[in-house]
Amino acid sequence: MPRIRVASDAGRGEKTAVYVSKIQQKLRDWFSLHGRDLPWRRNLDPYAILVSEFMLQQTQVATVIPFYERWLKRFPDFASLAVAEEQEVLRFWQGLGYYARARNLHRAAQAVCAEYGGVLPADEVLIGRLPGVGRYTAGALASFAFNRAVPAVDANIARVLARLDDLRIPIDSVAGLRRLWQLAAELVPNDSPRLHNWALMELGALVCTPRNPKCHACPVRGECQASEPEELPVKKARRPVVDVVEACLFQIENHHLRMERSSGARWSGLWRLPRLDAVPEGTPLCEERYAFTHHRVLLKVFGGPPGSLGEKGELVELSALHRLPMAAADARVVKRLLDLPTG
Ligand code: SF4
Repeated sequence: MPRIRVASDAGRGEKTAVYVSKIQQKLRDWFSLHGRDLPWRRNLDPYAILVSEFMLQQTQVATVIPFYERWLKRFPDFASLAVAEEQEVLRFWQGLGYYARARNLHRAAQAVCAEYGGVLPADEVLIGRLPGVGRYTAGALASFAFNRAVPAVDANIARVLARLDDLRIPIDSVAGLRRLWQLAAELVPNDSPRLHNWALMELGALVCTPRNPKCHACPVRGECQASEPEELPVKKARRPVVDVVEACLFQIENHHLRMERSSGARWSGLWRLPRLDAVPEGTPLCEERYAFTHHRVLLKVFGGPPGSLGEKGELVELSALHRLPMAAADARVVKRLLDLPTG
């Protein structure tokens, strides 16, 4: 067997092709017994896989499944999504959060229709040029949809690889990322790369978990070099959490509620209760909490007679509220105070 130089920069030495093929075989055998039957592993249509990958960024599998199924019924292919109104796209995304993903998916569908006649190219370089598609998603698409032998490193795979290799440098550093992608590329087989990447990902989700990894049940424990798996992966220090207090207006006038359509990058196209410039004195109607990036927000909701806190936003009929794509925290406030359906 030829020897494969896996890396020399981090002093890892050499790993043999036997080592690599053992991992490949064990992962595949384990996955055939333990891999979950997920909807996006049954439907290999590239569009459906792209939808699932966008939805799974930052969201749990169990949460995504009903959204994924509902989405594919309404937008079954690139063409139907490309021509949809952004407001409707956002409304179908409502409940998943991180709306930039919905906007990017919409734009990606438009780009696939405009540039490739509605057919996703199989080349990960071309896929990677679509809006919102990073290196992981491009690799995942090429591998899952087209069975191409390319690596795909998501958080689960990063953790497994960092432990397999006992990687002691931060995985979110340039050197750490380079090392992970190199390892992933070395491990991906030409034979059934789709199954291999699914298996690595599944191992991270079910066995090589962030806390209490089940090493006793791990198919590659014989090849794993981690002596303290729970200490891995190492990450750079996080930004400290910043607490923020926001105030908003909840005002009903003649069966209408004051709302404003946001144009900022984060909430673009979503409707929110009008934000006040300062937090008023007095007791709010209710409070709601939400978080974004490293911010933890306490949203205080104030009522009062029309005009008492300014006339921000525009009046929306109460009966039309359920059709508006709303930011999740605002949708919860509206639902709580009016007991309206929000979906
Ligand atoms: S042996 Fe433990 S740490 Fe190593 S890959 Fe398996 S589950 Fe992860």
